[in-house]
Amino acid sequence: MDTKIIRIESEQFPFSPKDEEILRQAGEVLKNGGLVAFPTETVYGLGGDGLNRESSKKIYAAKGRPSDNPLIVHICRLEDIGRIVKDFPEAAKKAASAFWPGPLTMILPKSDAVPSETTGGLDTVAVRFPSHPAARKLIEYGGGYVAAPSANLSGKPSPTAAKYVIEDLDGRVDMILDGGGSVIGLESTIVDMSVTPPRILRPGFITFRMLEAVLGKVDIDVTIIEPDSDQAPKAPGMKYRHYAPKGILTIVEGAPGKVVEYVNRKAAMDKAAGEKTGVIASDDYAKGYRADAVKRVGSRREEESIARNLFTVLREFDDEGVTKIYSESFESQGLGQAVMNRLLKAAGHRVVKV
Ligand code: AMP
Ligand code: MG
Repeated sequence: MDTKIIRIESEQFPFSPKDEEILRQAGEVLKNGGLVAFPTETVYGLGGDGLNRESSKKIYAAKGRPSDNPLIVHICRLEDIGRIVKDFPEAAKKAASAFWPGPLTMILPKSDAVPSETTGGLDTVAVRFPSHPAARKLIEYGGGYVAAPSANLSGKPSPTAAKYVIEDLDGRVDMILDGGGSVIGLESTIVDMSVTPPRILRPGFITFRMLEAVLGKVDIDVTIIEPDSDQAPKAPGMKYRHYAPKGILTIVEGAPGKVVEYVNRKAAMDKAAGEKTGVIASDDYAKGYRADAVKRVGSRREEESIARNLFTVLREFDDEGVTKIYSESFESQGLGQAVMNRLLKAAGHRVVKV
């Protein structure tokens, strides 16, 4: 398949006539059952018409994604939600008015309009109303209901720039819209609103505390950060290997001095064995590391920066052929919880305590 790759100035409202026309054409592709990768405020999404079962099947095929791992349906107006959910409870309305448009996905009972292919056979549907201007315009032109998982091959880190989408999906989708780098850099928070109390299935930019402030009691799925839990994950996607770089990633936990010392010792041994070594470092300790590629993700006090850079540095290690990667560990509260959730998955839960 010949993939059209088109650059847009996606974060400017109003759009230029040229960008408006590109988004209209991309919307036509979606309406005709095709696939379009597009920027959002979280990561790039791979969009298809969420109400068309054939489009959803194409999304699974393009990503190599298991078909029981459901998709998120994106809307561009709150009033559109009525068509795809059976019930829009008070609590969900409250969360919507606090966090939509934005990086929150809500699980709700699905209506008959949503094909089972889109929801991986579940009777619930995941819904998000993104804030990104181009994403919203595309959804509008595409018919209003765009199913979109992250635009990466299944198992790889989510793409935070169009070049990573191109690496994974060139030739597999109809169109890729290049709208620059992702502002948040991690996927949306997923909260299951079909249960009481609401339950967080995936941590993200909208944190536990933020949800709790609006909704009162909120549960958090133990499998999110507890690697050894023997409980089956509630969100189907949680059981699959995710975000993995090509190199072997190990998280090193402990007092800063000890972490640096351990990483340097291991990296020296790896190097002697012919490996190419990398470190995911905070600005605070980056200077102390000795490795082939020391990548800074930001200051430990600026969790937003760490969140934004994490997937990007994982992809950079792949590009540079790094085979052994060590990472500092981050806070398990607030936004750090989302960072650690992705990092633990990327590392296959390989954690060393020093
Ligand atoms: P991605 O689109 O790649 O960010 O993945 C979407 C995530 O949303 C997957 O991990 C799914 O398991 C989760 N998800 C989507 N729909 C549902 C649903 N109806 N119930 C629970 N989790 C869902
Ligand atoms: Mg994904």
